Amino acid sequence: MQEEEKQYETVIGLEVHVELSTKTKIFCGCSTRFGAPPNTQTCPVCTGMPGTLPVLNRQVVEYALALGLALHCEVNRYCRFDRKNYFYPDNPQNYQISQLYLPVCYNGEIEIALAGEREEKENSALPEAAGTGRKKKIRIHELHMEEDAGKLVHEENGDSSLVDYNRSGVPLIEIVSEPDMRNAEEAVAYLEKLCMLCRYLGISDGKLQEGSLRADVNLSVRKAGCRTLGTRTEMKNLNSFRAVSRAVAEERRRQIALLEEGKKVIQETRRWDDAKGVSYSIRSKEDAEDYRYFPEPDVPPVVISEKWTEEIRGRLPEFREEKEARYQKEFGLSAYDAGVLTQSKHLAELFEETAVLCGKPKKAANWFMGELLRLLKEKGMEPEKLMFSPKHLADLITAAEQGKINQANAQKVFAEIVERDVEPLSYMKEQRLESLSDEGMLRLAAEEVLAGNPGLVAEFHAGKEKVFGFFVGQIMKKTRGMADPGKVNALLRQLLMRGE
Ligand code: ADP
Ligand code: MG
Ligand code: ZN
Repeated sequence: MQEEEKQYETVIGLEVHVELSTKTKIFCGCSTRFGAPPNTQTCPVCTGMPGTLPVLNRQVVEYALALGLALHCEVNRYCRFDRKNYFYPDNPQNYQISQLYLPVCYNGEIEIALAGEREEKENSALPEAAGTGRKKKIRIHELHMEEDAGKLVHEENGDSSLVDYNRSGVPLIEIVSEPDMRNAEEAVAYLEKLCMLCRYLGISDGKLQEGSLRADVNLSVRKAGCRTLGTRTEMKNLNSFRAVSRAVAEERRRQIALLEEGKKVIQETRRWDDAKGVSYSIRSKEDAEDYRYFPEPDVPPVVISEKWTEEIRGRLPEFREEKEARYQKEFGLSAYDAGVLTQSKHLAELFEETAVLCGKPKKAANWFMGELLRLLKEKGMEPEKLMFSPKHLADLITAAEQGKINQANAQKVFAEIVERDVEPLSYMKEQRLESLSDEGMLRLAAEEVLAGNPGLVAEFHAGKEKVFGFFVGQIMKKTRGMADPGKVNALLRQLLMRGE
């Protein structure tokens, strides 16, 4: 079988639903906040009561446009919604307002970075590191807006189901790729990139695990060299990148086995069971006709002007790749460091502000790459949750550079800055963490040490440099390690020369 398998090529197209982090739903004013008690964020509109009318949330259109522009799409100036009719208990209107004929954006592309050269370092608190390797473009067929359905909760005893409409009407963007991916790695890289874009744009949490980003994998196989596409299946319920990878491998194996037995692949929707590592058919594939789509009569079409589009284009953030390149060029960081620091926009912004404020980008990068990532890992904390002021960290870095605090104590203060955003200079004073640099005190300590060891002083003058280290050690001891070593050195030399 293995030899036969090699003759097949996998073809993958992804349909991704992104849940938007708008404050309110797409067609009513209900909150979209996650985790509220069931049916507490509902109203007559999002529970499909007769006589209600939807009002489109402008923010949803702006988020869709922002993502569309980031994906280099064209924009439909005349943008309209369509009604997709079907019955299901989580869908109180018996239809979903979506877009079929005139999606808001179309014909885009996304550039993905592939391994080989993609570095991975074990001790990084952040899973995927910078990509400097091979690049590939995946075409985007379209991107459209739609509303989410409610959620069915199946009771444990199995004899009833409850429905929670809090999610009903939460805005979604669906991104449909062309069938341009050829293996699991490309599919995962595509999803990672899409998550990253959504997070940089601030339009969604973009998390596969938490369902704010849901990916359906369309997959077919064909004999290598064959130009037509094979029959595809659509796989649902993929809750992690690992699940996507495993589902791709298993579905490829299943389809090839069918073809090798002379059977046919049936176009159907399948559900992935990650615990068992297999998928089950849930329904045969439905066509657009089955849904009796027609233009949505209750939502007026949206005219998207050139001016509006350009406004949104102007507000697009600097994305990860641009930041990575700039950090290497402007700050002299390594590609690896730049990659890690830009994995979260928030982390990148904290780093950049700190670097600029302390004027030592490499020193700042060292603190971020070392101490900060270690602390994040230790606390199991996401970079998004970091709350400290870059000014505080910059002041600490400067103090450490000037020898006002030793490395061990600087690490203590750093942890307090990360934890509670303490002001480092007053905190150092309060906690007596400052290095002793008071000239008078240090001089006193040094004089005492020299006076107590006349024999060694004589040896030093006789050319035995080694005892110098002993003197330094004694002074450090006297000051319980708090003396600024630079100052101690200078003072000692001065005193010893004078004594000559
Ligand atoms: P439908 O309208 O039935 O949902 P689409 O043509 O919109 O089908 O395609 C849905 C998704 O399936 C797209 O991401 C597309 O790239 C992918 N796709 C279509 N045909 C194939 C195929 N033969 N093999 C793999 N993926 C495919
Ligand atoms: Mg489709
Ligand atoms: Zn509502």
